[in-house]
Amino acid sequence: MVELNTDFDVVIIGAGAAGVAAAHRLSRENLKVIVLEARDRLGGRAWTVPTALGKPADLGCEWLHSAEINPWTTIAEELGFGTDRTLPDWTSRIAIHHGADAHHQWEAARDALEEAYERAALAPQDSAASDLLPANGRWNKLFDAISTWANGAELERVSVYDRQRYDNTALNWRCYGGYGTLISTYGADLPVQLNTLVESIDHSGKLIRIATNRGAITARAVIVTISTNLLAADAIKFTPALPAIKDAAAGLPCGVANKLFLSIDGPEPSDTYLHLTGRTDRTGTGNYQIRPHAWPMVSCYFGGQLAIDLEKAGPEAMTAFAVDELAGLYGDSIRGRLHFLASSAWATDPFARGSYSCALPGHADDRAILSTPIDDRLFFAGEACSREHFGTAHAAFMTATAAAERIVALRQ
Ligand SMILES: Cc1cc2nc3c(=O)[nH]c(=O)nc-3n(C[C@H](O)[C@H](O)[C@H](O)COP(=O)(O)OP(=O)(O)OC[C@H]3O[C@@H](n4cnc5c(N)ncnc54)[C@H](O)[C@@H]3O)c2cc1C
Repeated sequence: MVELNTDFDVVIIGAGAAGVAAAHRLSRENLKVIVLEARDRLGGRAWTVPTALGKPADLGCEWLHSAEINPWTTIAEELGFGTDRTLPDWTSRIAIHHGADAHHQWEAARDALEEAYERAALAPQDSAASDLLPANGRWNKLFDAISTWANGAELERVSVYDRQRYDNTALNWRCYGGYGTLISTYGADLPVQLNTLVESIDHSGKLIRIATNRGAITARAVIVTISTNLLAADAIKFTPALPAIKDAAAGLPCGVANKLFLSIDGPEPSDTYLHLTGRTDRTGTGNYQIRPHAWPMVSCYFGGQLAIDLEKAGPEAMTAFAVDELAGLYGDSIRGRLHFLASSAWATDPFARGSYSCALPGHADDRAILSTPIDDRLFFAGEACSREHFGTAHAAFMTATAAAERIVALRQ
């Protein structure tokens, strides 16, 4: 329980990947620090849940993207979390259901689109990624579907500049115990106060006053890590107001991606890990991991408008949609072998209101605005603040650690 009128050196708002990372960095200093978290758990958009299979399911982040430079990879090793280093077959899946010829055509179209992105990134004006699709291209719907999974949004809502700045390194690994559990385990011994909703931040005085549902405290510095959709919706009231931060957050909205986990009976359709696309001829389609870690499970991924619609319709409708698409790939006999395990609902999650940020066309530079501290004492950190790693748990770690280090440096 926060004691009324207590004074802290640093208050961190949110105990997701960013908040946990910042608190860890500051725990090495002689500073009075507290993390205020609205939920009853750590991790935020990193959330692993148990399933009836006895295997964990990551409802939020799962892939240790850019594993070779990802600080969470080292933390996983230090904490004894095993990593599955099987690389995803995201780029080879077309061949499975559409044959080698289709696969080669798809690869050629993808390479041509990549070249168009590279050229457009050098243009004086930013553009929407959808502008670069070839007229009537056979694979346009699939490119759009991939964008819904990667960005949580269709290509027309994706800035080319932003997309091209993302540092896509070669390695993507997974953590057997779950990324969410890894992050909450890393935060287990930190001074976190759960069930504490920050309502307002008054930075007009010498000390910053943070009002919560459980009392008010003051701090010399504050690190805010809540999602851009919450910032843009004034979920925390700032005094004086911060219109530039609010506008930047609105330019970097969190799109929606949701997951559904099904168990699968029997050995078919594959006894190994596979990645599949439900359909190639429509944007509203799922991305399916068959047997992640060789477990008898299907992990289904929906993004963009489809994810929003299925979340509204509920877990049963989400399951029915996935089963229909899988039956389209494997035949009706698969229907009775798939059973609901777990699903996410990030669009309506009150403490996220979306999945991960994506810059709207013309808004790539909003990431720099969002990550510029106010008076060197009010800092914004989290996945959306990273220019090169946005959307990920390692971006959250890196931006929050940088904010913490800046606070430490300023005190010296
Ligand atoms: C479906 C899905 C799949 C994903 N897949 C991947 C992946 O494979 N790899 C990857 O790297 N990333 C992935 N991500 C993205 C990754 O999960 C996020 O980028 C990362 O977890 C964000 O961390 P954060 O600390 O910036 O924000 P958050 O996790 O949102 O943390 C902010 C915290 O602030 C709290 N909060 C909000 N409002 C208040 C308030 N008023 N007062 C107090 N506390 C508040 C929230 O409860 C939350 O705990 C995925 C996300 C989703 C949803």
